Amino acid sequence: MFWLISFFTLGSVLGSFANVCIWRLPRKESIAWPPSHCPHCQGKLRPQHLLPLISWLALRGKCAMCKGTISIRYPAVELATALLFAAIGYRWQLSITSLQYCTLSLAFIISVATDISHREVPDEVSLGSAAILAVVAIVTAQWGHLLGGILLFSILFLIAVASRGGMGGGDIKLALAIGLGLGWKLALVSLALAIVVGGVLATALLLRGNRGKALPFAPFLAAGTWITMFCGEKLVEFYFSIVLRL
Ligand SMILES: [Zn+2]
Repeated sequence: MFWLISFFTLGSVLGSFANVCIWRLPRKESIAWPPSHCPHCQGKLRPQHLLPLISWLALRGKCAMCKGTISIRYPAVELATALLFAAIGYRWQLSITSLQYCTLSLAFIISVATDISHREVPDEVSLGSAAILAVVAIVTAQWGHLLGGILLFSILFLIAVASRGGMGGGDIKLALAIGLGLGWKLALVSLALAIVVGGVLATALLLRGNRGKALPFAPFLAAGTWITMFCGEKLVEFYFSIVLRL
């Protein structure tokens, strides 16, 4: 229970930081300056308005100064990050795995939002999280994680070359972070899941006549990785139990 609450709180704070990144990184604005302000009246937010989730609820989704509506997207991102962190903290407590999975989850929350809104995954997010995860892998001597990074990066790079730009550079750099965070075995599971989920949705869209619109791939990489984090080991066991029986 202690870790559940601690990680939930940490997640809501980092979710609040994710909101800043989601808005500013695709617009090439600094994430450190200027301080948070209301999108309507530009009024600077006071400390009591910066509390994740609580401020939005207390102000009923309105700016304290101009009463302009603050999008539900802000508390939604904070809540999603908090719930993911809580689930990770509950399962893995204070551990290297928690650090790796929380880093990936935060990177995904930002990437999925910017990929949908601007069709890009900012380098600060993909390469930034990859750098953190590479350092963790080296310090803890998890060589399977370094291999995972190289492997997933190479596979997506080859897909990008083969499909002549059907896979964006941002997706390739995000795959590098996924490999480094999951290790090679689970990274392959997550990529397979991303391709299956993405393929099913792409086929459904094609059948409905949405031809020629490339799908943002980051949401599928994120979905594949989240499924893998929580049930990847079971999926691997299940897969081998079937293969070995054949
Ligand atoms: Zn305002």
